[in-house]
Amino acid sequence: MATITVFEAGYCTHAGCMALRGAGMKVCRFPARAYLIETASGRFLWDTGYASHFIDATRSGLFAWYRRVTPVYFDEREAVVRQLGEHGIRASDLDAVILSHFHGDHIAGLRDFQGTPTWLSGEGWAATRSLKGIGALRKGFVPGLIPPGFESCATAVESFSRVELPAELAPFTHAYEAPGADGELFIVDLPGHAAGHLGAFVATASGWVLLASDAAWSPASYRELIGPSRLAHIIMDEPARYYDTLRMLNRLHRGGHVSIRLTHEGAL
Ligand SMILES: [Zn+2]
Repeated sequence: MATITVFEAGYCTHAGCMALRGAGMKVCRFPARAYLIETASGRFLWDTGYASHFIDATRSGLFAWYRRVTPVYFDEREAVVRQLGEHGIRASDLDAVILSHFHGDHIAGLRDFQGTPTWLSGEGWAATRSLKGIGALRKGFVPGLIPPGFESCATAVESFSRVELPAELAPFTHAYEAPGADGELFIVDLPGHAAGHLGAFVATASGWVLLASDAAWSPASYRELIGPSRLAHIIMDEPARYYDTLRMLNRLHRGGHVSIRLTHEGAL
């Protein structure tokens, strides 16, 4: 069975109600998590959290607005590549880095994993890769975080085998099976939050876990079907699909077979 090791690599702050309607104006911390998924014979990193590259790329100019909107706190010792090193794992030991989507707080460490195979939504990358300037900023994408040669290491998850999921994962019925993951890691589309937004079902000894990325920012969102502030809709790729995904998470939660983990949960 697979194991999941959680890393926190920096955090940002914003008003609670931005993440959860009705949560008020109190400023809350939203940790940026990455996950090491180890299957019987494979090692995978899900997202990268923040990294010094993000601080560098948003120090001045247009992309400094990113940090003005969501102030970022990051200590170099939190870099995922360093935390992995403390577990005795080098970038070259990973079978793949898997990107849930292309927002800065999920891809900022990519330059620390240059040359490592990277899996992503091909559809999402096609919609993101040529964004520049204000168009990129509006989509939460910082082009400077993408390392040289990135595309030559990238594989679209759409090229993986499409398989049927067990009934206990309803309403999710199909997924992309991660190659080399011993049938313990399945990637699913969780559309709405960002172009090509992905999640992953992981089979662990204590049951199924869904890494649900940014499909919600608080468990209350999928438990009680409460969305974020209307203001947060500005950064959403497709608000209507975001709520479709939230309803699917709500059904999955009510089914009682899966532990759902959100990248930024904790404050609310
Ligand atoms: Zn995001």
